[in-house]
Amino acid sequence: MTKIERLISGRLWSLAAAALAIGLAATLGCQQAQGEPEDEAPAEEQVEDESADQEGTEDVSQDDGNGEYRELTPEEEAVIVHKGTERPFTGEYDKHFEPGIYTCRQCGAMLYQSTDKFDSGCGWPAFDDEIDGAVKRVPDADGMRTEIVCANCDGHLGHVFLGEGLTPKDTRHCVNSISMIFIPEGEVEYGRAYFAGGCFWGVEHWLEKEPGVLSVTSGYMQGHVENPTYEQVCSKTTGHAEAVEVLYDPVRTDYETLAKVFFEIHDPTQLNRQGPDIGNTYRSGIYPTSDEQERVARKLIEQLRSLGLDVVTEVERAETFWPAEEYHQNYYERKGTLPYCHSRKPIEWPEEAEEEVAEPAGSAAQVEQDQG
Ligand SMILES: [Zn+2]
Repeated sequence: MTKIERLISGRLWSLAAAALAIGLAATLGCQQAQGEPEDEAPAEEQVEDESADQEGTEDVSQDDGNGEYRELTPEEEAVIVHKGTERPFTGEYDKHFEPGIYTCRQCGAMLYQSTDKFDSGCGWPAFDDEIDGAVKRVPDADGMRTEIVCANCDGHLGHVFLGEGLTPKDTRHCVNSISMIFIPEGEVEYGRAYFAGGCFWGVEHWLEKEPGVLSVTSGYMQGHVENPTYEQVCSKTTGHAEAVEVLYDPVRTDYETLAKVFFEIHDPTQLNRQGPDIGNTYRSGIYPTSDEQERVARKLIEQLRSLGLDVVTEVERAETFWPAEEYHQNYYERKGTLPYCHSRKPIEWPEEAEEEVAEPAGSAAQVEQDQG
């Protein structure tokens, strides 16, 4: 979604929220699915008629970087910060079933996939699963329910209910529409990283555990044969390295964090082998897709060399990634065993120069105040 689109959708939202705010205090919020009274939803037309008056009042300060929060309207703040609840059957996403990702309205983190959304009939968007690690469960102040908040910014989302038997996963995340922004499939800006560090089963296993990682796929890269098979790659004649493609949420993690993990889960000083796996298909490689990724990769290698490690990791622009056969995916998870080929050994990375240190979390306005 472009900034302009985000601005527009944000603006419509603040208006819808204004209409909902009336009901905030009176509504107990996400209820058990049974017996929820049907409130009258405010007419959509009413909401949109006010748009002209609201022109320019919405300040969208969110950017794609870590720690930058979008400025909230009072209506959004009532739910996201003060844990209010929008009136049932009034939220934009209650009956919304487009393919895409639902993100946190405050920080932009990816929270839910449309494939996990279902119609619970209780008046709020319902999901029976979350994106791994994106949603935190905490005891509600009411002493009975379980509140759910964004794991990245602690913004209030709603409540989670178990044991209702509504879907096979028997879980219902009951989420306020106003706590989320939907990004249609095709406009979702995933982070993407490519690493080769020996047998891809082990590299995939470790990277999948990282917060913010959405998926890791095993495959083949940097060779000269199209769509190679495992047997071809193992014959060591195609030039490919066993590699992984990592898709991640750029709000919750970043390329440098993942590249550091990559260096900690394999031995970058071994040439064309990794432990018992020998041959150029098991070479150490990091394959950037941009100048910035390449800068980070080379910087980390320099840091490792400054620690006395004779790093042989190749750095090349990413070529076509060919996903491996299905039986190679999630190998250790399916087998229920631990990798023989990889373990994680933390590295004490050198301190960065002053200007490289990330800005403290908080809105741009807050940062300015702190400095002024
Ligand atoms: Zn958030």
